[in-house]
Amino acid sequence: MQVKPYLRQFPDNEGYFGKFGGVYLPDDLARECKKIEEAYLKIANSHDFIMKLRDIRKHFQGRPTPVYYAKRLTENVGGARIYLKREDLNHTGAHKLNHCMGEALLASYMGKKKLIAETGAGQHGVALATAAAYFGLECEIHMGEVDIKKEHPNVIRMKMLGANVIPVNKGQKTLKEAVDSAFEAYMGNTEECFYAIGSVVGPHPFPMMVRDFQSVVGFEAKEQFVQMTGILPDNLVACVGGGSNAMGIFSAFIEEPCELYGVEPLGRGTKLGEHAASLKYGVEGILHGFNSMVLLDENNEPAKVHSVASGLDYPSVGPEHAHLHSRGRLRLGGATDDEAIMAFYKLCRFEGIIPALESAHAVAFAMKLAKEKPYESILVNLSGRGDKDIDFIYENYPPEKFAL
Ligand SMILES: *Cc1c(COP(=O)(O)O)cnc(C)c1O
Repeated sequence: MQVKPYLRQFPDNEGYFGKFGGVYLPDDLARECKKIEEAYLKIANSHDFIMKLRDIRKHFQGRPTPVYYAKRLTENVGGARIYLKREDLNHTGAHKLNHCMGEALLASYMGKKKLIAETGAGQHGVALATAAAYFGLECEIHMGEVDIKKEHPNVIRMKMLGANVIPVNKGQKTLKEAVDSAFEAYMGNTEECFYAIGSVVGPHPFPMMVRDFQSVVGFEAKEQFVQMTGILPDNLVACVGGGSNAMGIFSAFIEEPCELYGVEPLGRGTKLGEHAASLKYGVEGILHGFNSMVLLDENNEPAKVHSVASGLDYPSVGPEHAHLHSRGRLRLGGATDDEAIMAFYKLCRFEGIIPALESAHAVAFAMKLAKEKPYESILVNLSGRGDKDIDFIYENYPPEKFAL
């Protein structure tokens, strides 16, 4: 029997990566997912779509983003060579725009008028509002009232970009309720609306679609790294919230002799509620329409999670990560809040780069790995820049306390 290349083999026709993924939704919603899948397969594989997306990436997003050798950081750590894929230089300052532009382009091909999504910290909301403005689509972002207060600058950005921010005041007034509210709004008008998921999570086809749109990061990085050094990187490192920036860079290396490390947020302790390490501590379960590894509390409800990086505090993880990990292809890395803050300051002081706190987790783990593997190379996906985090860090972890 012939073996298909990995990216053609997974997911299968039902959206499964091994036993993970799938569509666990009421029939009416499942039918909408099927329609999106069919449209995606047809439209996104047309030459016209591919060329339009390529043009957008180059002229609007400023791609390709560079691969950069972090010389001073490498010397300070004293181990493996550390390289950074600079997604912080992508327009809007993070990798999220890669899949938002893809999803919005698909929505406009499908004749949709409005993009709907939920947002937690507001990063997905801002990227989607940007894409909506570019394509002249309406944009409706559902956000918990607690998050609206906490993430004020992102709320302002979304409004300036023309999005309609819908406050959600049910339950805990955070991400989970925002998801329910956005789903409800979408179900009320599936003809005109497109639901744009913010990571490689949710029902099929979203984990596949978001991975495919993010794979540009990996394919660029591979070419750039080989061009720079003549060889492949030995190790790939990326932080994992839902898993989109990690899948983006990993996808080009799955069948290469490279180790893949997904870095989970270890927060401030190993007790449930103190971290968001779904692969390390989770159990198999269904949340938000897909089967994966989930952190559950004693009532079998999604557990409370914590990370100093709000983009990483999700109680589940993309099904493809669960699959790759269960097969032994994906290794687990981790970084605590404190390690991430230390890595944040190292990158500031040694490289002149202010990273997002999410990305600082990946850097923190890379620094540990570098010591273990002194003669190897590590390519880190620096998923975003830290502008959004500077007020929080300045207040809680002031620079005076971090003389390096
Ligand atoms: C949202 C976000 C993440 C986490 O999301 P993934 O889907 O796991 O990539 C990581 N880094 C940055 C900068 C983000 O904004």
